[in-house]
Amino acid sequence: MRIAVIGSNMVDLVSYITRMPEEGETVEAPDFQLGHGGKGANQAIAASRLGSEVVMVTRVGDDIFADNTIKNFEKNGIDTTHVLRTEGSSGVAPIFVDQDAHNSIIIVKGANNALSKDDIEDVAERIKSCDLIVLQLEIPLETVYAAVDFGVEHDIPVLLNPAPASPDLELDKIKNCEFFVPNETELALLTDMPVESMDDIKAASRVLLDAGIKNVIVTLGARGVYWVTDETEEFLEAHTVEPKDTTGAGDAFIGCFSHTWVKTKDVAKSIEIANLYAADSVTKLGTQTSYANLEEFKEKHPALDL
Ligand code: ADP
Repeated sequence: MRIAVIGSNMVDLVSYITRMPEEGETVEAPDFQLGHGGKGANQAIAASRLGSEVVMVTRVGDDIFADNTIKNFEKNGIDTTHVLRTEGSSGVAPIFVDQDAHNSIIIVKGANNALSKDDIEDVAERIKSCDLIVLQLEIPLETVYAAVDFGVEHDIPVLLNPAPASPDLELDKIKNCEFFVPNETELALLTDMPVESMDDIKAASRVLLDAGIKNVIVTLGARGVYWVTDETEEFLEAHTVEPKDTTGAGDAFIGCFSHTWVKTKDVAKSIEIANLYAADSVTKLGTQTSYANLEEFKEKHPALDL
């Protein structure tokens, strides 16, 4: 059970503010917190906490954030042999949270922009030993396309989470993915179709199936998840919980889905458990801090076969 996550890492620089400064103004903010994020890293950490062996292929910079990021991966049991270093800034996300919990976020991709298709070739042997390749869109699209091709060439299933939504993603280049996991916004942008009603979502998903993708799994936030293939379709309602912070719910879903699928090869079961795991994550604050490990998850759901 080994997963290769080829993707991003970011350091969240969260300032808790009373108000945004005007141009030229300096204001004091009451609090600050540093956190680890990046969609690739989040998904890798969720899968690793649940017990998967995870190989992280990513790039960090040569600044103070780089060592911290690597330490965070190691602390979470992730194989960091292929965490590569680049001159310059690590990926950082200055985030401003006001007193009403509204976010303003700047993303500086930094070293993530340097993750190249040559990097994939350099770690080819290691990736070949994996049962699933997991991708998102916080690295160059060329690298994403190369990773999809690599998976197809070596018969390794690929899961693509097309986040953050990118209008430049070419469907034709990712049609060979085994799993395509967008949220509603990403689905709308990619298909240029509405996603208001369940019928809209079905019609948009159909476009992706017709393009060749085998499993389309649309996460619908508090509504749940919709899964469709050429043979089957299923809608799962979200679990009723009291949400505290929904940031990173999609990454929790994907990390848990990947872990469960690699272990069981049962898509329906993997979606069911991921729906439960993601719901659990929204009841806690933060992103990676809200991802349960296997013991914690099983303690809450003793009947769980995981
Ligand atoms: P993203 O974070 O990528 O936008 P979603 O918001 O679609 O992803 O959430 C991913 C999954 O997390 C959902 O499909 C669902 O399983 C779970 N989830 C999200 N919000 C809630 C919520 N309020 N209550 C229960 N589960 C939720």
